[in-house]
Amino acid sequence: MSQQRNSKEKWNRIVEENRHLSIEYIEKLAKPILDDLTSWVNRKFYNPLNGELTYKIPLDERVNATATTDVLDPTHPIIEMNLGMLREIYRDAFVFPLMSDIFSEKTSTIKDLNEVFQSVCLTFGSGVPPINANQQTKLFDLMKPAYDERRHEKLTDDMLGSRFMMFELMVVWLYFHEVGHLLQRHFLLKIIKPGDEIVCVSEMQESVDFHSKATDENYFLKSQAREILADLEGVDLTISYMVKNKLFHVPGIYLLMCAQEIMFHRFFQSYPENFEIPEIKHPNPIVRGEYVQGYLTNLVLDTLVKNGFISDRKDGGYQITYLSTRASSMAGLFWANRYEEFDGGELPTFMRLASKENHEQKMQYIHTMRYWIDSQLEKIKVNHLCRPNFIEYFEGLKLYQK
Ligand SMILES: [Zn+2]
Repeated sequence: MSQQRNSKEKWNRIVEENRHLSIEYIEKLAKPILDDLTSWVNRKFYNPLNGELTYKIPLDERVNATATTDVLDPTHPIIEMNLGMLREIYRDAFVFPLMSDIFSEKTSTIKDLNEVFQSVCLTFGSGVPPINANQQTKLFDLMKPAYDERRHEKLTDDMLGSRFMMFELMVVWLYFHEVGHLLQRHFLLKIIKPGDEIVCVSEMQESVDFHSKATDENYFLKSQAREILADLEGVDLTISYMVKNKLFHVPGIYLLMCAQEIMFHRFFQSYPENFEIPEIKHPNPIVRGEYVQGYLTNLVLDTLVKNGFISDRKDGGYQITYLSTRASSMAGLFWANRYEEFDGGELPTFMRLASKENHEQKMQYIHTMRYWIDSQLEKIKVNHLCRPNFIEYFEGLKLYQK
């Protein structure tokens, strides 16, 4: 499917770009973020259990991340983030601000959207959000001097800052998705070969666990539901991280939404253009996106209230809707123009499938997922390594519950 949707010419260009991206440089950018994340997760979750989480960056081209648990030593898990995955993240974070800038100048998408929202909340006309100096990431502060030596005049601080912030938030969310698998101890719900001691939750489609229809006819449905739960725990931890690292502000929230949307576009490449539930470990990314967006927007509003930014949830509603609508449009435009056969005529595939006309089939998929989430939630609650955790909040939201 990806071959049909993606433009061969564009792919060739990207393969060429990859040759010029230094993997040492990408590793240098990712390491301080992953170090910080890992020590935080250890302080918060694993050290109190006399355990320790470690991470690795395998020199592997495949776009994948893995959470591995040794059944005999479950408090010392390992997260692996392939350099191939980090390179994809970096390349998109690198290009997205530049392309957003072009969209803001050459298309009416942002102008039209801003007109709709102008009277109810703060909008911005530029491609990327304005970022104050005190809102920037540590990575930006660290890297800025090197860029200042010979910077193209079009590469503003906002654009450079967005690039690093997006890279960081993409890495953070993906990392916390893996942490979600580990904290919820999904390995206990997997069917493994008798005698297996190492259990991996791999994000690769190809690596399906030992199973058969005879051992569990609902294997894929259950696996898909657990991916959504890992996504939601990932969102929960990401918001805590953003508050802790002073990245919980409009540009941070917007760029997190863009990062997530782009990630879902990436995963969508191997899915059909319909809402039949495929025999694949991960749910259709549009369905994942609905859960993530539903959970995230609620959590952002409640966190804004909790931290005193607004006094009531309804004071931030339009602002968050604006940011999330804008993020969906910009990520969609980005993906279509960057990767797909796209002439601007009709909506890109992902956005077309996510649109109103397929609402009913989409909701059916979403409700089926909710059923399989609920059917595993009681067990996951008991297995979860930390209390309180995101489950209580998730249950309170009654998201997509019939
Ligand atoms: Zn996963």
